[in-house]
Amino acid sequence: MASRFFKNYDRYKITYPFGSRVIFGKKEHHTGVDLVAVAENGGAVSDYVVAFDSGEVIEAGYNSRSGYYCKIRHDETLVTLYCHFKKGTLRVKKGDKVVKGEILGYMGSTGRSTGAHLHFGISLFGEWVDPEKYFDKDLSEVNKLTVIQERKLLKRGAKGEEVKLLQTLLNFHGAKIECDSSFGPATAKALAAFQRSRGITADSVAGVVTWQELMKIAKNT
Ligand SMILES: [Zn+2]
Repeated sequence: MASRFFKNYDRYKITYPFGSRVIFGKKEHHTGVDLVAVAENGGAVSDYVVAFDSGEVIEAGYNSRSGYYCKIRHDETLVTLYCHFKKGTLRVKKGDKVVKGEILGYMGSTGRSTGAHLHFGISLFGEWVDPEKYFDKDLSEVNKLTVIQERKLLKRGAKGEEVKLLQTLLNFHGAKIECDSSFGPATAKALAAFQRSRGITADSVAGVVTWQELMKIAKNT
């Protein structure tokens, strides 16, 4: 039996949820969930970690925080992250295509970790979201429009990940601007040109309609 996360056990439990928590008196934002497999007797056990959904490995390697880890891209906007694999067990490399349920490696405690567990994260539009919301979903069915609609309008002067996404999408469409996360004159100009090409009011403000059009582009590319 398997789960979305582990090969041999269909039960798992979350040992640390997504969100803010206090560690050693310091407040920290946990960008994913920590999971362990659960044996029949209810005890936590290690197991092979499997791909949550099908996609392409875009990173696989080691860093001091994540330990041995890999990242899988499922489409232009959705990435999953798996951390703390046991040393020497990571089975995938950058560029590999993986299918849902395929073994990625064995659960371990490498990197910043105090015990064997899987850190699992989902990044949507470059932002870490609560993975639990997606546990029973096919990632291809995630309604990204809802996410877009929840976003505030982006206009000149804005900064951050959302702006970077906007710039990336504009470049998908043929703009050649720097993805520097800062909404300046070049971004405004590129956005207006894009809006004009789509018959949207060229106001250089990214609202729901503009985001919708931008995403269509991304899907077709
Ligand atoms: Zn974690």
